Amino acid sequence: MRPSPETADNALYLHQAGPEPRFPPFERDGRTGIAIVGGGLTGLSTALHLAEAGHDVTVLEAEVPGWGASGRNGGQLNPGLKFNPSWFLEHFGEAQGRKIVDFAWSTVEETATLVERLGIDCGMRRCGTLRAATSEREAEAVRASYEDMRAHGMPLKWLDKADLAAETGHEVYHSAFLDPRGGEVNPLQLSRGLADAAAQRGAALHGASRVTALRRAGDGWELETNGATLRADRVLVACNGYADGLVPGLRQAAVPVFSSALASNPLSGSLAKTVFPSRRVLYEAGLVTVYYRVDPDGHLIIGGRGPMRPSSAASGMTAVANRAVELWPELAGHGWKHAWNGRVSITKDHLPHIHAPDTGLLIAYGYNGRGVALATALGQHLAAALADRSGASDLVIPPSSMRKIPFHPFWPIGVKAAVTFARLRARLLR
Ligand SMILES: Cc1cc2nc3c(=O)[nH]c(=O)nc-3n(C[C@H](O)[C@H](O)[C@H](O)COP(=O)(O)OP(=O)(O)OC[C@H]3O[C@@H](n4cnc5c(N)ncnc54)[C@H](O)[C@@H]3O)c2cc1C
Repeated sequence: MRPSPETADNALYLHQAGPEPRFPPFERDGRTGIAIVGGGLTGLSTALHLAEAGHDVTVLEAEVPGWGASGRNGGQLNPGLKFNPSWFLEHFGEAQGRKIVDFAWSTVEETATLVERLGIDCGMRRCGTLRAATSEREAEAVRASYEDMRAHGMPLKWLDKADLAAETGHEVYHSAFLDPRGGEVNPLQLSRGLADAAAQRGAALHGASRVTALRRAGDGWELETNGATLRADRVLVACNGYADGLVPGLRQAAVPVFSSALASNPLSGSLAKTVFPSRRVLYEAGLVTVYYRVDPDGHLIIGGRGPMRPSSAASGMTAVANRAVELWPELAGHGWKHAWNGRVSITKDHLPHIHAPDTGLLIAYGYNGRGVALATALGQHLAAALADRSGASDLVIPPSSMRKIPFHPFWPIGVKAAVTFARLRARLLR
């Protein structure tokens, strides 16, 4: 198979996860109970749970399972969503709001339990997530989140500048909260582990199978790929930031922003002691988020905004590289061994969405850059909705209608302007 120009061939994880697994293309007409379009964490976790419950399920992935954001992200397992728990209770009402909060803040626990149950070797560690404020103004928002989550009984800890300096090895931040439930994982190994587990339980997984048409056929659906037709009773579309024109309007319902990541040469000697010594995972507050961790092999993996096109050159990711040296000047000249980027799906309201536009069709996407635990944990809920003919009505994230974002074709310009503005604002407020 010819690699797509968006393949992250310089991603660290490709060197750690061993040879690419083989999943044959779907090439002969067939039928299945439930078809899943997209083999990322959303699709794979759903397939696994369906196969475990004895359902006939087929995954059609355009490249290879784990190829998208799921196999190339920052590997941070961060509990929760962008807004505070109280916001969900206010906006969705007590009962539904509570359901969303309970789900979203337990996704890391759910993911860890699943990984342990399946015995997936993916370097998972529950090391805790730090959410750091880079300015006094940001500290107010981070503190408000902290207070809100504490009021909902969550086990967070507040860190002031001195505590944080001991954790990070630098004095750049104002303050932070620590959520001890967070963690890290090798995301490609997690994706491949889920794919293997699903296949072992009877799911049919196909790579090199881009679905080029999806249409209603009687009570069910027909999907076309590689000139063959797959008939299915129900379908899940799980393409997130890589959604193409398969479902009209889906690509325009979110902005597929690129996130860039760099991995350093392994840290050793004094660098290993001074660069992020606490070995937790951290993401900065603010619009232009920088996130980082040091993996078990000693690579500093740091990510943030970069080119809004596919790239695997560290030279194009200067904003992230410069930020790393701003945090730890001793890193200057240490070298970036791996560079890659991928698409995250940013929705207008910054919330994940599930659509159920027709009988037997579900669409799940829009994790807004925090889908590792979320998508993995959502799989069992999507599986339950797909398995049950009554569908999506009881889902943990209530189905919404699909809405196109105005001026969508101009998103690269909009993102560039927003990033420039946010950087400027952050600089002025520092
Ligand atoms: C650089 C980067 C860093 C990130 N860091 C973090 C992090 O640290 N923590 C965190 O929680 N989240 C992070 N994220 C976000 C997270 O990776 C995603 O939210 C999550 O992986 C989404 O999973 P998914 O299965 O929905 O989509 P994806 O993994 O993107 O999978 C979608 C798949 O659909 C396939 N596809 C598309 N169209 C078709 C078609 N027509 N037919 C068949 N297949 C198709 C694609 O090939 C792709 O493999 C990051 C993302 C990136 C890119």
